[in-house]
Amino acid sequence: MNKAVFFDRDGTLNLDPGYLGDPNKVSLYEYVPEVLYKLKFEYNFKLFIVSNQSGIARGLIKESDVIAVNNRINEILNANDVTIDAFFYCPYHPDFSPPELCTCRKPSPEMVLKAAAEYNIDLKGSFFVGDKSSDILCGKSAGTKTVLVDYNSDENEIKTLKKVGISPNFVAGNFLDIDTYISGVLQEDNF
Ligand SMILES: [Mg+2]
Repeated sequence: MNKAVFFDRDGTLNLDPGYLGDPNKVSLYEYVPEVLYKLKFEYNFKLFIVSNQSGIARGLIKESDVIAVNNRINEILNANDVTIDAFFYCPYHPDFSPPELCTCRKPSPEMVLKAAAEYNIDLKGSFFVGDKSSDILCGKSAGTKTVLVDYNSDENEIKTLKKVGISPNFVAGNFLDIDTYISGVLQEDNF
């Protein structure tokens, strides 16, 4: 079986201007390409993006815009010889779409479970990395370890999670912290 690191996209890998639809506005956070390279080629993780893109349902961006942004992310990463293996996104929102379509939306683990089935992923040996409480809840429900990125150290999402009795396995202040945490877990026995 394969292992994977699932990443939220906006606010985790790239700066989040809100409903990002312009590929020319993609800006990755510091150390993202280097750390993704290490995760993929030193630790043998598959790399996936799992993203809510309700801007589509809201009529603010088109599906082709989301795809263009995804392609741009891979183009930037290609300069560092690494690529995301697959992008999963949920275009729906309960205020704009029928409920039966919204089951993909995080915190639902549906997109992660779909990726796991498609790519033969061992979720217990996998990680979910995101900047929102919904990312952590999604990862927990799917059975991965979870990393919350808190670039501003404002602890807002940590507080939200605490109210429902959940905490991420690790809180990262930047992308290098993610590498340090995951490499530490890999060195633990029985993992
Ligand atoms: Mg996000």
